[in-house]
Order: sequence, then structure tokens, then C-alpha cells
Amino acid sequence: MSDSTVSALRGAPAAGSALALYDHPSPDFAAKLTRSIRLLRALAAQHPRLIQGSSLGVEDMVVTELIQQAGVPVSVFVLDTGKLHAETLALVPAIEQRYGISVQVFRPVQEQVVQFVRDHGEDAMYDSVALRKACCAVRKLEPLQRALSGANGWITGLRREQSNARAEVPDFVEEDGRVKINPLADWTWGDVWHFVAQHQVPYNPLHDAFFPSIGCAPCTRAISVGEDFRAGPGGGRTNPPKSAACTSNPLRHKRSTHERPHRTPSAVTPHPVQRPPRRARRRNHLCAARGRGRF
Ligand code: SF4
Repeated sequence: MSDSTVSALRGAPAAGSALALYDHPSPDFAAKLTRSIRLLRALAAQHPRLIQGSSLGVEDMVVTELIQQAGVPVSVFVLDTGKLHAETLALVPAIEQRYGISVQVFRPVQEQVVQFVRDHGEDAMYDSVALRKACCAVRKLEPLQRALSGANGWITGLRREQSNARAEVPDFVEEDGRVKINPLADWTWGDVWHFVAQHQVPYNPLHDAFFPSIGCAPCTRAISVGEDFRAGPGGGRTNPPKSAACTSNPLRHKRSTHERPHRTPSAVTPHPVQRPPRRARRRNHLCAARGRGRF
């Protein structure tokens, strides 16, 4: 467990960490929080088989905490694509220990992965959009269908601030016969980190290393100086037609984008995460946050 995760658990954020930098709540944050809890309770009462699909990114860690605080019977699942960072997977036992629950982990069908790698190679995601979609279909979409079967609703950590089209993130919506609930729809990035600080929610240490959101290691990279936060999950993404897009994270993203993997040392060999000098880290955080109008 990293220093920042330990610090977050102890309520003493490490200097320069995402927690220390982004804890900037909206003036009406308390009202937003109350509304989110009420939304969860109201929809859980109507839909008895709700689940949370967690990417283990910070918003989803907040949602898991909200579910517990709301006292609603919602199980949590994670898609382990086989390409996640070790830091990401380490949050599964952290959740189980903190809340006394069992996280369901869905993995791709091994035979399909073996076949895909045999046909296209281990690094096929670097070769074309079509192969990235195919990789996602095997590693994410098929397990997601299994995870959702039997549920009549799922809870996400989507926020309007992340979306290019704000209307795409309603508080809740009926989709494919299930209700999709977005309790953080009107939360800002500062609200999210304020909640993390308030409740000492454990979070992925990659957030402290310029990863604004978390995904598969080959398709996720840190942001650079002055870059928009939305560039983070595989920044420089292509924009395939919506109908054909394989989203970077089917648990969270509604945008019609696909990750563009970066064959960088950190992407191919993601551990340990190399952190830029402290002054550069802070400048990156501030530039990116200002670019998003967060403060
Ligand atoms: S995000 Fe990248 S590594 Fe993960 S399933 Fe999709 S293409 Fe494959």
C-alpha cells in the first residue's frame, strides 16, 4: 500500500497528493451529498437487484462508500481484464476489508483471451482501432454482460463534468431494461476529492501520479503539463463512430471515444510508477485543474 493510500486512510494527506490538491468542494456540496443518498435509497427501494460496477477509480470508490452510507443492499463487481495495474487490483481486498463485503470479480473467458493473443499478439491494442475494440470485446464487454445478467439496475460513478455532452449523464435512466443510476452526476472533481478526504476513502495511488482515471495499463497514461484531465485514460484518443465505439471503460464512460494505447515505458512496464519531480507534479496538477475550471 502506497504512502498516499495509507495517508488517506489515516486522514493525513501526503503533500502534493491528489487528495491534498483537489479537495475543493462546491458551495452546495452538502446538498449534493444529501441528494445523492436520497437518490440511491429511492431507486434501491424500487429496484431490488442493484449492482455497482466499479472501475476502482476514485469516483467509483466514492460511490461504494455512498452505497454503504445509504445502507442500500447493492453488491459490487469489478472487471479484471488481465491488464489492470497492480495498484488498481489492490483496492479489491481494501474494499472487502473496509466494508466487510465480497467484491465479485469478473474475468474474460480464458480460451477467448488465448485465442485473441494467438491470432493478434499480446500487444494487439497498439496496432489498430479495430483490434482495440476486439480486445475490449473479449476482455471487457463479454464479462460485463455476465456481470449485469440478473441485475435490474446498476450504479456508476459518471459525472456530467467528465462528459462532452452533459445531457448524457442524467441522475438515472432506463437503459436496456435496467435502470442506470449516476449518483455523482452533478459532482465536481473537487467534490469527489472532498468526500474522499472527509470520509478517508481509500483510493488508487495512481491518482497521485497523474492518472486522472484508471483503466487497463496499456491503454492508460498519465496526463502531461497543461493537458486536460479528460485526456488521461488513454489520452489522444481517436473518436470512432458512436455506434462502433468500444468505450474505454464500459463501467463508467458514456463518451464515444476509444483509448489510444501509448507504447511508453510506463505503459508496457507499469510498475513501479515513475513520478516526475515534485515541482513538476504540482505544476501539472494545477495546470490541468485550471484548464477544467475547477478552481
Ligand atoms: S482497454 Fe486496452 S487492454 Fe483493456 S481491454 Fe480495451 S484494448 Fe484491451
